[in-house]
Amino acid sequence: MRTALVYSEKYLEHNPGLGHPERPERLKAIVNGLKRFNLWQTPEIGVIEPRPAKPEDIKLVHDPEYVSLVEKMSAMERPIDGDTPTKKNTFELALLAAGGAIDAGTIVMSGRVKNAFALVRPPGHHAGRSRGGGFCYFNNVAIMIERLKRDFKLKRFFVLDFDAHHGNGTQEIFYDDPSVLYMSLHQHPLTLYPGTGFPDEIGEGKGRGLKVNVPMPPGSGDAEYWGAMREIFIPLCEKFKPEFFAVSAGFDAHFDDPLTGLHLSTQAYGWLSSTVIDQAEKWCKGRVVFLLEGGYDLEALASGAVYVVRAMQGEKFATPEVRNHLKVIDEVKMALSEKWSL
Ligand SMILES: [Zn+2]
Repeated sequence: MRTALVYSEKYLEHNPGLGHPERPERLKAIVNGLKRFNLWQTPEIGVIEPRPAKPEDIKLVHDPEYVSLVEKMSAMERPIDGDTPTKKNTFELALLAAGGAIDAGTIVMSGRVKNAFALVRPPGHHAGRSRGGGFCYFNNVAIMIERLKRDFKLKRFFVLDFDAHHGNGTQEIFYDDPSVLYMSLHQHPLTLYPGTGFPDEIGEGKGRGLKVNVPMPPGSGDAEYWGAMREIFIPLCEKFKPEFFAVSAGFDAHFDDPLTGLHLSTQAYGWLSSTVIDQAEKWCKGRVVFLLEGGYDLEALASGAVYVVRAMQGEKFATPEVRNHLKVIDEVKMALSEKWSL
């Protein structure tokens, strides 16, 4: 078996309410899309039922007071912020999402599969140490990484976040951590929530130079993204030599997404993923976990996820031609120049 899909029907029970874009139909659309393309439960693709994370696992990342707050707010069905309501089952389902991330990381490290896709809800990349927001309660990718550090003594993680929104929670959690290179491709912060992710946010202390932000002007698409992958992502992999890759896979940079102004094609999710997988093969025996974050057009979500899983199965996709040089790439290289010459 090459690939594990970590999924529970319970993830469909997370329902922030009528009219909320982060709705159960998102994950239903992905599962149906994968089934339609025979990418669900095959000899090469196993579907794994996750276990909930323990509160101790969550506390590897989040302040204990914040963990209790989420539990209390959930019991009272009070919102974490304006975009992030809770129901009675929110706390329990947020633990199951974090547990799905841990199980995905663990099965990859065990060598039973090469790669895994944590098809989890609620998402996590906006959740910081002591606050939630932007549809996120606990930071799934960060909790997975902290667990893997302890269980497998890994020292160099590369997190690529291609959700259209900046993963401000993940960046905050690892801001001074030299073991996590966090790179985000997102719509420019002056034009989209959460308003962070400028090139000069490069980390601090021992983590300085290891937080990499590529803000894309609205209207950017395949050529701009490939420019960033070719000129920044690949050279950084060569220098950092990751032992594990994690991808915060949001599908809201797609041109059909109703919440953002980016223009990625559906195929882009194929070559973005196969570029990461190629680097994972080169540096760490193919070890990569994809984690579902955002994406609000059902068709784009379903077909984007199909491309990711095809890439996880080893399929290669042609990369686009880059005609115009993007100014922001120079800004990012300049911001990082004290640490890396790219
Ligand atoms: Zn997003």
